[in-house]
Amino acid sequence: MTNEHTTNHTPKTWYVATGTNHIYIRASNERYVARLNDDGQAIADAAFIVQACNSHDGLLAALKDLLGSFDLVPDAQETCECLHCGRKYPIEDEKIKDYCPSDDCPGFKARAAIESATKEG
Ligand SMILES: [Zn+2]
Repeated sequence: MTNEHTTNHTPKTWYVATGTNHIYIRASNERYVARLNDDGQAIADAAFIVQACNSHDGLLAALKDLLGSFDLVPDAQETCECLHCGRKYPIEDEKIKDYCPSDDCPGFKARAAIESATKEG
């Protein structure tokens, strides 16, 4: 994968803090990461942001570990059987693809999720 995150965000763990008229997202180093107007929805949004951000690195690492570095079933190079969806896909130009081309394959979706989670901007 390319486009790995290179931004230096505030170190985690982040948490939600409440104020008089605002909801805050704060970091374990006490830095204020964000302030939301307390409109009744903000605390749920802040909690979701905190949960997603605190879980990001662990989920990404686990997904990469589960996905592995290719989709072929070991010892299936002649058949090109996908480890994730079980489909057999063609060898093109006598070249074996490392990744399953089916866009509904769990492996394909996992690679797309990793790409989305690690792209800049
Ligand atoms: Zn597949």
